Amino acid sequence: MPSYEYICRQCDAPYEVRLSMSAYAAGEGATCPACGSTKVERRFTAVGVMTGSRTGGTCAAPSCGGGSGFT
Ligand SMILES: [Zn+2]
Repeated sequence: MPSYEYICRQCDAPYEVRLSMSAYAAGEGATCPACGSTKVERRFTAVGVMTGSRTGGTCAAPSCGGGSGFT
């Protein structure tokens, strides 16, 4: 089961959760355990995920593949 790292935008607390892919897709884990905020940001640190064929700086996630400017 992959683990996902988040950082809370509300209180700046980093935290990590282990979720199944389906639970992650359902939005579970996107709540700060410290303050309960849902203003959290996913941290991409390749924890528990092997992306062996990818050595460049290209993000494979659909959410950042379009380059539509999340700022
Ligand atoms: Zn928080």
